[in-house]
Amino acid sequence: MISIKNVSKWYGQFQVLTDCSTDIQRGEVVVVCGPSGSGKSTLIKTVNGLEPFQQGDITIDGLSLTDKRTNLAKLRSKVGMVFQHFELFPHLSITQNLTLAQIKVLGRSSDEATQKGLALLDRVGLKDHADKYPAQLSGGQQQRVAIARALSMDPIAMLFDEPTSALDPEMINEVLDVMVELAQEGMTMMCVTHEMGFARKVANRVIFMDRGAIVEDDQKDAFFAHPKSDRAKEFLAKIL
Ligand code: ADP
Ligand code: MG
Repeated sequence: MISIKNVSKWYGQFQVLTDCSTDIQRGEVVVVCGPSGSGKSTLIKTVNGLEPFQQGDITIDGLSLTDKRTNLAKLRSKVGMVFQHFELFPHLSITQNLTLAQIKVLGRSSDEATQKGLALLDRVGLKDHADKYPAQLSGGQQQRVAIARALSMDPIAMLFDEPTSALDPEMINEVLDVMVELAQEGMTMMCVTHEMGFARKVANRVIFMDRGAIVEDDQKDAFFAHPKSDRAKEFLAKIL
């Protein structure tokens, strides 16, 4: 579903990604972890075409991000992205947040978009909040809306960049529960997170990044039982 091949990226002289390669199969859940500044956000943004890269290639569902014939906007609309900060539109109601892109990008009717949006809101446990504005919801609730909004586009894969790290501890699980459900339903997911409970529960693979490189890319059990590199061992010792 997602193929990352020898991707390197520089900011000026600074190399932020070094020869990153991995393949994510349909239905696979891959957790990306690693120290702060190791390039996790940059990597996940390149997958969604939000960050250009100078070397290598990424294909999504067979379409190459570097092929000029690929319609990037369309491809991006098929890959859902959820960020650390919820990035809902503050001046729009929850329903409007859930329907805007469906109407503008997918050309759905307002009725169809609303129906879909409300069904997804129900699915993330927030159906009574449709007419509120983002500021009236807790962080955990806003993040669940952000996930519902991404799902409203019928994505073929979902990318998460530390979706729970800005949340108060008591709200983390309500967001992780939604992600676990998605994973169990077979969604293809690439998740930057340090929630190792989540990784243990639903990840197929864990990628460990350090200084812009993918240092480990292993089946979950192997990663937790025998991290190969000292850097991954140190990292796990710190967060577990
Ligand atoms: P992570 O998500 O693992 O914390 P990032 O991908 O955000 O790491 O950042 C990787 C490195 O790239 C960091 O050293 C960061 O300072 C640098 N970086 C990120 N964005 C930019 C930018 N727009 N310009 C220059 N350097 C950047
Ligand atoms: Mg980051």
